[in-house]
Amino acid sequence: MRFAPDTEETLAFLVALVNTAPGASRSGEDEVPGVPELMALLDEFRYSGRRDRDDAELAQVKRTRSRLRHMFDLDRDEAVTEVNTMLRDGRALPFLTRHDDFDWHLHATEPGAPLAERMRVEVALALVDVIRGDEWDRLRVCEAHDCDGVLLDLSRNGAKRYCSVRCGNRMNMIAYRRRLG
Ligand SMILES: [Zn+2]
Ligand SMILES: [Zn+2]
Repeated sequence: MRFAPDTEETLAFLVALVNTAPGASRSGEDEVPGVPELMALLDEFRYSGRRDRDDAELAQVKRTRSRLRHMFDLDRDEAVTEVNTMLRDGRALPFLTRHDDFDWHLHATEPGAPLAERMRVEVALALVDVIRGDEWDRLRVCEAHDCDGVLLDLSRNGAKRYCSVRCGNRMNMIAYRRRLG
């Protein structure tokens, strides 16, 4: 299962962002507690465009993070409504662009649009591919009972169940102990 490179990059960012939330993250704490951590996440994904580097922007990103997390609880048809809303509210106008060392890829907002809005539009565009390709079930919530994390399963057999090796090992250990009685 392969999507276009920019789609996969955005989906990877989506999962990484959602999994910084308390209850999903490795530490159990919010892993984007402040502006520096947000900037580090953006740098990791080589996020282009406007950065205000202030608390207002951080708060907007966190609201967007919650909204994007909620999408994983939706079925494919429900997701369409949310994707269309995000595209419309962000006044998405897709165009091909090439910058830094990225080859031609889609943008749909101007680089000066607010960061959280660009995130929503970019994610919505990636989800357009996922929905059109009828691959919505590749985006899942982690099956570990004590984890709120999410995952993107691009594997051939689509059998990925956990957001991380950590969750997989923990659940295997619990099942093992249960078998021992
Ligand atoms: Zn770009
Ligand atoms: Zn997990």
